[in-house]
Amino acid sequence: MTGRALEGRTALVTGGSRGIGRAIAERLGRDGAVVAVGYAREKEAAAEVVEAIRAAGGRAFALPAALGWHGDAAALWEAFDERIGEHTPTGGVDIIVNNAGIGRSADLASLTEEGFDEVFAVNVRAPFFIVKHGLARLRDGGRIINISSGLARIAMPEVMAYGSTKGALDTFTLNLAKELGPRGITVNSVAPGIVDTDNTSWLHGDQEAAAWAASVSAFGRVGQPEDIAGVVAFLASDDARWVSGRVVDATGGSAL
Ligand code: NAP
Repeated sequence: MTGRALEGRTALVTGGSRGIGRAIAERLGRDGAVVAVGYAREKEAAAEVVEAIRAAGGRAFALPAALGWHGDAAALWEAFDERIGEHTPTGGVDIIVNNAGIGRSADLASLTEEGFDEVFAVNVRAPFFIVKHGLARLRDGGRIINISSGLARIAMPEVMAYGSTKGALDTFTLNLAKELGPRGITVNSVAPGIVDTDNTSWLHGDQEAAAWAASVSAFGRVGQPEDIAGVVAFLASDDARWVSGRVVDATGGSAL
């Protein structure tokens, strides 16, 4: 197949085994990229995503990449280097999508230091060091896309630490964009609103909560992972070469 937007590129998607990451991995695969599908525990889910990408005519491989511990990013790249040669002769990477994230609810009163450290380790420290160690592998003209959240903009004290991780991620995006501009690398955040994934399983058990969630968006529904994947695919493409250092709102017009 020729003429696909990301033909000849390699993408890494952390947390590609489920939810938003899965939709991103499948979309980038359909657009022609070789996709490394990162996962933490759900090996079978990652294998399913790889299979789905291959069935659609793309190329992909599963990458064990649990994050949130010291040395996680170095281990991720070591695993990547071991596997990438089987899928592309050149090695290296063109698109890094820092998607893996955790979000436990805890207001300030119930937040523990352990909970705070855990959410920052996965949502902030891991992307920092994935990029730091990935820069030698990331080709000029590449893309870094950080999956943030509308909660960096919309106050929700019940998940204050989580929202703060995404604010930190957006500041990382801003600084990194300036640093990597001379290499033609764009860096952007994509901020989803409420999206139907395993992380938001409460959407399915509680009608009142589901109705509220739908009402937050100007479109009157919750987001689907594919709604986010389309925005990521645009930022990954050549058409987005002049967009950098921004937070692209993909909340479906939430809390306008
Ligand atoms: P999800 O359905 O819970 O999926 C999480 C993915 O991340 C899985 O692939 C999981 O791998 C991986 N993961 C979880 N913990 C990890 C860890 N410690 N190390 C490495 N990988 C890990 O999540 P989601 O809802 O799609 O969220 C994806 C991103 O979007 C997150 O950054 C989240 O903050 C952001 N976001 C989500 C929403 C929403 O409403 N869903 C809204 C705004 C922003 P395994 O399958 O191996 O467990």
